[in-house]
Amino acid sequence: MTRYKEIAREVEASGAVLVAVSKMHPYDAVLEAYSDGARIFGENRVQELESKFPHPGERPEGMLVYLIGQLQRNKVRKAVELADRIESVDSLPLIEKIEKEAAAIGRRIDVLIEVNSGGEEQKAGFRSEEEAIAAASFIIASCPHMRLRGLMTVGPLGFDDDKNRRAFSYAKGVFERMKGLSDDIDVLSMGMSSDWKTALEYGSTEVRIGTAIFGERS
Ligand SMILES: *Cc1c(COP(=O)(O)O)cnc(C)c1O
Repeated sequence: MTRYKEIAREVEASGAVLVAVSKMHPYDAVLEAYSDGARIFGENRVQELESKFPHPGERPEGMLVYLIGQLQRNKVRKAVELADRIESVDSLPLIEKIEKEAAAIGRRIDVLIEVNSGGEEQKAGFRSEEEAIAAASFIIASCPHMRLRGLMTVGPLGFDDDKNRRAFSYAKGVFERMKGLSDDIDVLSMGMSSDWKTALEYGSTEVRIGTAIFGERS
C-alpha cells in the first residue's frame, strides 16, 4: 500500500492532477501505486526511466511517465523516445535539441518550461519572466515537434512558508501571461511533498509528489 489514494483524493478535489514521483523507488513500488490508482509517474533521470519502466507501448494500460529532472543534451534522444512529457525545459539550446530529436523520430512531444521561481543560484530553470516568455514564444513559433503545455517550478529549498508563497505567486503570474500565447497551455506544475497544499492555493494544476506517497528515498 502506498499513500497515493488519500493524497489523490485531496489533490483531485481541487481540480489538480497528481504525478507520483517514483525516482529511486523500484518498479514494484510503481506497480503498487498503479494498483492504488496512480497513472502518471515522474522520474528525474533518463537512465533510470529507461531501466525501470517498460518501453512505451508495453506499459500497463494508461501508464504515463514524465521526465521532471534536468536533462543533459546527450540524453535528449532517449528522453524524446521514452518520456510522455518533458517538464524540465530550461534553456534555448535544450529546446533546439529537443525539437531536432523529436523531428528525427517524427514525434510531437509535450513540454513544460521550467522557471526558477525562488531566485536560487543552484536551481535549474529560466531566471526571469522575460526569458521564460521568450522561450515559450520560440517553442510556439519555431518548434513544430514540441507542444508547449505550460510551466513547471520547484519551490524554494527549506520550509520557509513566506518564500514558498512568493515563489508560487510569481510562477502563477508567469503562467497567466504564458497562457495568452497559446490555447494548448493549461499546466502549472508546482508543489511537492512538503509544499503541495500551499501550491494548490496558488492555482497549481499539477503536483509532483514522491516522499509522501512512497516514503523516504534510500
Ligand atoms: C524529487 C522531485 C519531486 C518530488 O519530491 P518529494 O519531496 O519527494 O515529493 C518533485 N519534483 C521534482 C522536480 C523532483 O526532482
